[in-house]
Amino acid sequence: MKIGQTFRKTLPPATHELLRAIGMLSHDMGYRAYLVGGIVRDLMLGRESVDLDVAIEGDAEHLARTFARKTGARMRQPTRFGTCKLLSKAFGTLDIATTRSETYSVPGALPEVYSSGILEDLARRDFTINAMALSLSPGSYGRLLDPLGGEADLKRSSLRVIHAQSFRDDPTRMLRGIRFGARYGFTFERGTALLFREGVEGGFLKRVSGERVFTELKILCREPEPARVFDLLRRHRVLESVDAAFMLNLWKLKDSRRLERAIDVLDESAPTGFLEEWRAWFAVFFLGLDRRKCNRLIRYLNLPKELREICLWSALELKRTLSRLHGLDSSRGYRVTKLLGTVPAEGLVHLYAAGPRRERNLILTYLTDWMHIRPALTGGQIVDLGVARGPRVGRMLEAILRLKISGKLRTKADELDYVRRRAG
Ligand code: ATP
Ligand code: MG
Repeated sequence: MKIGQTFRKTLPPATHELLRAIGMLSHDMGYRAYLVGGIVRDLMLGRESVDLDVAIEGDAEHLARTFARKTGARMRQPTRFGTCKLLSKAFGTLDIATTRSETYSVPGALPEVYSSGILEDLARRDFTINAMALSLSPGSYGRLLDPLGGEADLKRSSLRVIHAQSFRDDPTRMLRGIRFGARYGFTFERGTALLFREGVEGGFLKRVSGERVFTELKILCREPEPARVFDLLRRHRVLESVDAAFMLNLWKLKDSRRLERAIDVLDESAPTGFLEEWRAWFAVFFLGLDRRKCNRLIRYLNLPKELREICLWSALELKRTLSRLHGLDSSRGYRVTKLLGTVPAEGLVHLYAAGPRRERNLILTYLTDWMHIRPALTGGQIVDLGVARGPRVGRMLEAILRLKISGKLRTKADELDYVRRRAG
């Protein structure tokens, strides 16, 4: 089978060594091991994949412990679903789980899990392209298991659910569908498209907890091209089906490419680590919402504090800040700096994306120049020069900053001179 060769060539030798070792150990313990899920799909697409997921027909925890003991790898406590994480310097991380199938007592809830063979394990998955396995057993290393036609769907660039209840059982699969649609440019196969529409119209996602929706939205915002994600979310009206608050005049920024460009520009101009891109994308969900809707959505998604503030800013402060910025020009660097100094980095992205050219230039000058300007003198030094301790020192520092930004003070000597003249 072709994939066998691709598989052997594409993964780094150290990874093969690891996978072979797992396959051998499983064999010795009377189990069978498979590489499963996203990595198989990505190998077949010739793309890099991050996670190594291994499924074991047998006791995964026992296998993982034995492997960890033999190789000195660390093992994390198994999760609720029995997935064990192995970590080592030599190979990074690897997830090992016992093959299982699932039943959903209540649609949208987490499944009941029971152990079974690899075929049932593949059949519980979301899309056929994610339901292929590669054997790791010594006699058949690299052999493809594709009982649901994943390879054919990959060739057709098609997303197909495995059974008609899939979105009902786990509506987060709808958001996963958007993820793969955006990342690979795949489209829903006809039957799946109908089921998807049924899921949207039936509000399936409403049955899922806000935390799980948040987790999926966060993953979507971290995709390599979130603009494509937003296009799909809009086209399929997915968000409106989650919560009516999402029923925004969704796109205040006109189009998602504008935000993409803003992120690129700001990433280049701003100091490294200044901006977390995914959060700028996430805040888009809040654009145009009033305070009441914002709060409702924040509570529902249970957002962490920092993200909450960013989203609130983009919803409630963007317009006002933009109009204040509108009255300023580059001769008012200090005012611009004071105004933008309170804006979260993600908010600057939104400002840049929404603003006309003159405002955009002010933001860039702020990022590359003004925001880095500080007085050379400290408060203590100003006191030593004869200024009385107290609010005057702070005012003096602000005055120095203003004059430095406008270019009227340049060197430390200028600053000393300035303070001396006003001290006493
Ligand atoms: P990515 O490349 O984004 O990590 P992935 O396919 O590896 O995509 P994961 O979330 O890492 O996705 O999950 C690994 C595998 O587990 C999937 O390929 C799929 O087979 C299965 N899976 C994950 N979540 C679900 C779900 N909600 N329903 C069914 N199967 C799922
Ligand atoms: Mg993965």
